[in-house]
Parts: sequence; C-alpha cells; structure tokens
Amino acid sequence: MSLIDKIALVTGSTSGIGLGIARALAADGAAIMLNGFAAPTDIEREKAAIMSDFGVKVGYTGADLSTGAGVRQMVEETEAAFGQVDILVNNAGIQYVADIVDFPDEKWDAIIAINLSAAFHGIKAASPGMKARGWGRIINTASAHGLVASAQKVAYVAAKHGILGVTKVAAIELANTGVTVNAICPGWVLTPLVEKQLHDRAARNGTSFEQEKTALVSEKQPMTQFTTPEQIGALAVFLCSEAAKTITGAPISIDGGWTAQ
Ligand code: NAD
Repeated sequence: MSLIDKIALVTGSTSGIGLGIARALAADGAAIMLNGFAAPTDIEREKAAIMSDFGVKVGYTGADLSTGAGVRQMVEETEAAFGQVDILVNNAGIQYVADIVDFPDEKWDAIIAINLSAAFHGIKAASPGMKARGWGRIINTASAHGLVASAQKVAYVAAKHGILGVTKVAAIELANTGVTVNAICPGWVLTPLVEKQLHDRAARNGTSFEQEKTALVSEKQPMTQFTTPEQIGALAVFLCSEAAKTITGAPISIDGGWTAQ
C-alpha cells in the first residue's frame, strides 16, 4: 500500500469510473473525498463500503462542478476535512448526443463547464499545495474521444480534446515539482453514462439493450469487450506510484484498441 497518508479528491465518484478510481486509491491506502450527485442513502452506502472494505477515512462533497466557484468550494471542503489534496482526479462528466445543428446551446455550455473547465479550476486550486509539498498526482479522465471523434458528440469531443491540452500544459508547468499530470483515455466502460446511450439506441432502433451493447462496442473497438471501472482504478493507482514518477503530460489509452485504428 503506497498511498497511506495521501488524500485523494475524486470528482464524479458517486458512480461509474470515478467510484472505481476512488475504491482503487482507497485499497492502496489513500483517504478519499467523494464528489458527485446521488441519493443520500446511496452516498452513505458507498462511503460506508469504502471505509469498511479498506479502513480509510472517507468524506463527501456535493459541490456542483459546473462553475469555478463550485470547484473551489470542493477543494476548500477537502482541505478543511483532511488538511490537503495530494491526488486530484478530474473525472466528473456528462454526455449529450445530437448533430451540431440540433445541439442545444445549454448542453454545449454544460458539457464544456463540467467536462473541461472544472479540471482547469481544480488544478488551479489544488496544485499550489501539491507543489509546495513537493508531491502530487493529477489525473484527468479524458476518453478515446480526446484522441478521435465521433458524430453527434461535438461538445464531448471538444471537451475531451481540450482536457488533453490542459493535461499537457499543466504537466509542463509542474515538471520538476514532484507533481505529475496525466490523462486516462478509456474506450467503452459500462456505466450509467453509457447505459443511457444504449437505452436511447434500443428505443430508436427497436432493438434490445443487450443487442445494442454488442453493437456499440463492436462499432468502435477491435476488442469487443467493455473496460471496467476497476481496471481504470488500477491504472490510476499505477499513475500515483513511484514507478510512474516520470510519466507526465501523457494521454494513456485503455480502450480495447479503439484509437489504434
Ligand atoms: P457516470 O454517469 O457513471 O458518472 C458521472 C459522475 O459525474 C457521477 O458521479 C455524477 O454525479 C458526476 N457529475 C455529473 N455532473 C456533475 C456536476 N455538475 N458536479 C459534480 N459531479 C457531477 O459516468 P462515467 O461513465 O463513470 O463517466 C466518468 C468520466 O469518464 C466522464 O468524464 C466521462 O466522460 C469519462 N468516460 C466515460 C467512458 C464510458 O464509456 N463510460 C469512456 C470514456 C470516458
């Protein structure tokens, strides 16, 4: 366990990939600040599970990351609860699918705010403390859509390409400070964000959820299986390790070969 005494703030960790990363960091000894939206009983259940499974402290902030003020509040709440932020995982994200001509302006603004600008505000707020202490890890959840595009996902693809830019700039600025900044680029992961797309496709095409699962993953990935939140969590733990101390500014694919094509 290499992350004992480290404090990890994982955004969008009430569900899906963020929860997988939070649990993996906790398993390696880090105290965890959860963030995201969910029913209070579900949040309490996940908090209690992490505490009892891994014996670490767990907090929660319901800060809304669609504004810079919300992101700063989240970092301040973490520092008030735990003293500092050693590991920042910018993971919260939303999706909306439509052609550009039909894409609602407010969906564009929301996706850019949550999937891209929140990472800027989070790094701005949390990295000075990491730099002062001489150790930090910043991990941005990008996507295969940070490297290649798909139709009907203009805001998401723009935000994910943008977060790779943020990752590279922050990595350069923080080089030689003990703080690394990297991006994980998953392919398909079966989470609520993707399940909604599968239900929408099944309704549109008159097919079943299971048929659309197979179709979706086969359309993009040579390897026709979903990556799991646990596998992404393991990659995040590696990026926090001593072995990864010279990996910085890197987009790291975990995508079943999607972007190898
Ligand atoms: P998810 O819907 O399961 O989780 C999203 C999380 O973000 C939830 O905890 C939600 O409450 C939180 N969130 C949403 N809006 C928020 C806001 N305004 N403020 C605070 N929290 C907010 O989705 P997921 O698939 O686990 O996605 C997590 C990240 O992984 C996203 O950035 C997504 O783009 C990325 N990603 C997902 C896939 C995939 O196939 N599922 C692939 C590549 C990248």
